[in-house]
Order: sequence, then structure tokens, then C-alpha cells
Amino acid sequence: MSAFHVASEAEVRAGETTDIYFRRTEEVLRAHGLADRRAYAEVTTGSLPERWPWGALCGLDEALRLLEGRDVDVDALPEGTLFPARDRNGVRLPVLSVDGPYGAYCVYETPLLGLLCQATGVAACAARIAFAAAGSPVLSFGIRRMHPALAPMLDRAAWVGGVDGVSCILSARRLGIEPRGTMPHALVILFGDQAAAFRAYDADLPPEAPRIALVDTYCDEKAEAILAAETLGERLHGVRLDTPASRRGSFEEIIREVRWELDLRGFRHVRIYVSGSLDEHNIPSLRRAGADGFGVGTHLANAPVVDFALDVLELEGKPAAKRGKFGGKKEVFRCPRCLSFLCLPRGEPAPVCPDCGDATMEPQLQRFLEGGRLVRPLPEADDSRRRVREQLPRVSLEAAGGEEVSRMPASDRERAIEKAKELYEQRKAEGMDFSQGPCLADEIIPDWCVDVAHSPRQAVDNEPQNQCRSYREGRVCHFVELDPEGNVLRAR
Ligand SMILES: [Zn+2]
Repeated sequence: MSAFHVASEAEVRAGETTDIYFRRTEEVLRAHGLADRRAYAEVTTGSLPERWPWGALCGLDEALRLLEGRDVDVDALPEGTLFPARDRNGVRLPVLSVDGPYGAYCVYETPLLGLLCQATGVAACAARIAFAAAGSPVLSFGIRRMHPALAPMLDRAAWVGGVDGVSCILSARRLGIEPRGTMPHALVILFGDQAAAFRAYDADLPPEAPRIALVDTYCDEKAEAILAAETLGERLHGVRLDTPASRRGSFEEIIREVRWELDLRGFRHVRIYVSGSLDEHNIPSLRRAGADGFGVGTHLANAPVVDFALDVLELEGKPAAKRGKFGGKKEVFRCPRCLSFLCLPRGEPAPVCPDCGDATMEPQLQRFLEGGRLVRPLPEADDSRRRVREQLPRVSLEAAGGEEVSRMPASDRERAIEKAKELYEQRKAEGMDFSQGPCLADEIIPDWCVDVAHSPRQAVDNEPQNQCRSYREGRVCHFVELDPEGNVLRAR
């Protein structure tokens, strides 16, 4: 009996963490001699959380270990594949398929999905954060938000998705990397003196560990950052700002100010790391303000799960899909040029890409298990991570479809629209006259202004006094345009 509320490996393998109806189904099928009927099933999802255009397949190594030794053939996309929920024609994309006597895998549906759903959600979230950080280092700090038994799984998925380091000792050991971290506020509090804490930290840390001082314990970030730099000089690698939300005001402003003051005193080498309530939405503006690296916690560990389902699509070689599912075995083709996906009945030849017309599409499903025997090595985290990194520059964070699609995070745009509508209602209540198409805000969120204009556009809209100065002068790059009735005309 474990002291913690986690299932042991033996309990998972024995099907104890399975929904009871699968166990009962297996018993009923056995009683009626149907458990050995050959059933082909696919793992798919109808849609991805938060309107993500893609997920990052992860957890495949554990899924394969779960099914290893059962009498099944298992094909799957390579781990780290960025996959859409559906192909270009709306067909649900299989990320994994199982083929064999149904009784051989019936009770493993629950744990199989659990292994894939959560890891894939975390990996996709990490990939989106890495995308938003645009090359600046991101560290996974979120294990404290979840059961400690999950820490290695969460950090592996975050690593596959693209974070540059993890804080957990065990996770790092399993990934073959050095754990990363700075210092807790408690260290400064116990010393009772920031400079003494910084000096002791420097003296006792292994020589290769970068010295990063936490600079918001008692005083202003600027004052403590300067103190840390003056105390450790060249030895100081960076400062970490973990400013609590209640003191933040504008976190961007604090970062700009710290950068300025450090530079002014000749501490240009000191990097600025930030942590606390970070996500893919606020990272870009913090990066523009001068942050050099990001510690992401809750947002990553608590990433939405991808709700995969397993459906039997073929029975004894004959199509047998339930309502709403496409029957038969499928192959997943991907275009090497434009990464468009197409599902076709298995056995069909590779088509020329219908989207770019430029290349022959390539089959993606790989055979991992044959009759329960591994016929290909289990996915390695570093290989899966490399795969994500190769695809990431070629995809967008936003779903394609509208002509307003850009490469910025969808939510910046959504937040700007939401705030613009709020502001419009406020100004309307104040009796503002919108008839000339005035500027409503030079900056509603970082990099976005709000302007009123007519549809179709009128000459008055082009007069300088009716445009946002911030946009004209290039201080913001994006705008929300409302008509005089408050409807969104454009946002980009
Ligand atoms: Zn193509």
C-alpha cells in the first residue's frame, strides 16, 4: 500500500486503473466467445483545446510500454509530431492505431488515453510557449502545482515541447540534463540581508552553476538588482524578478527600468529572468521589454488535456465505425513542404499535396509493436524534442482560415478586441461622438491600438486627427478597427 494516492506500475498493468465498464465488457465478450474478434481502433480527437491549430504528440513511449506484450499491432505518428485534430478534409487524424483481438487491449483504453491526453497537452503548451519566447530560454517551474508522482512525466512533456530546462532534480536526471533554478525568497529571508545571501549563494554553489539572484524579496527590484550586481560583479549571471501581482503595476515597466539602471552602471552582462503567472500571452511583451528568460509554472503544468478517444473502426477486416466516425484503416500523409495533412484509406498510394501541389505527401504512421513485440526503438525525449523544434518555425500559433491570420498568438488579438469593445462601451456611456472615426486608444494592450473607422472607408477616416498616433508613428504594430456602432471591422 503506497503512502501516496498513486497507482503502482503493477496496478496500471493489471488494468486496475480502468473504467469498470471495460472490465465488464471484456467479461461479457469472453463469456460469449467474442473477445478474440479482431478489432482495429484509432486514437483521434475531434478538436484541440483553446482552439489550438495543432497538438504535439507526447506520451507515446509510455503508451507503447503499456501495450507491449499484448497481442496487438500498434502504429503511431512519431512522438513530437505537430498534428491537427482533423486533416484538410475534416477527417479525424489518427495519432495511434491498435489492431488485434479486442480482448487483448479492451481494458487498456482508459490508461492508454490518460497517458497520451495529458502529455500531449503539456507538450503542445510548452511548444506554444517556446514559440512565444522566440528563442529566449524557458524553464519549466510547474511541478509544485501537480502531484509529485507526475513530475517526471510533466517535465518530460515540457522538454519534448521545447522548454530549455526543468527545475526538478529527478526529471532532469531522467532527461540527462542539469536541473536549473535560481534561489527562493526563503534564502534571503533566512540570511536577513540580501547582500549576505547573494555572497553565501555564490560561495557555496557549484562553480558551473550560473549565479542568478532573486531581487524582489524586501526592496524594489531596481535597488536589489543593483545591489546583486555590485555584490557579485562579473560573477553575477542574472537577476530573477518574481514580482507578486499585488506590486506589479506594469511588469514591463519594471523590466525596462531594471535593464536601464543595470546598463547605466556597466552591468550589461547581467541577464533578466522573470517568473510568476507567465504564459504564452504575456511572454512576448515581457520579452520586448527586455526580459531574457522565463520561468513558467502553473500554465505549463496545468496545460489543458487533449481529449483523445479510442474508437473501433474495423471488425474482422470490415468497416465498422460508430456514428460520427470514419470507418476502416487509415494512413496519415503529410506534405514535406507545407505540412498539410491528408487521411486516406490504408493502401492508397501517396498523393501529390493538394494544398501546395509542390510535393508528394509522405506516410507518417510508423509500426512500433507487432504482435506485442517492439519492432522500433521507443521514442527518446531528445529526438521528439528535435522533431518539435524542426516543425515549430513552419507552423502558426493561430488556426488558419481568416484573411487576418498572422503569426502572433491568437490571444493577443482576442484580448485586444475584447478590451477595445469594453473601451467603446465606456466611451459610449460617456457620450463620445464616434461619427468622425476617432482613435480610441494609442495602446490598449502592448503593441495594439484601437481606432474607429467607417465601412466602407470614408475620406474622414484618413485624416491624421482621426487616426492613432501610436500606429502612424510606428510605436505599435497592430490595430483593432471598430465601426461607429462598435462592430469589429479589422484586427491585425
Ligand atoms: Zn504541400
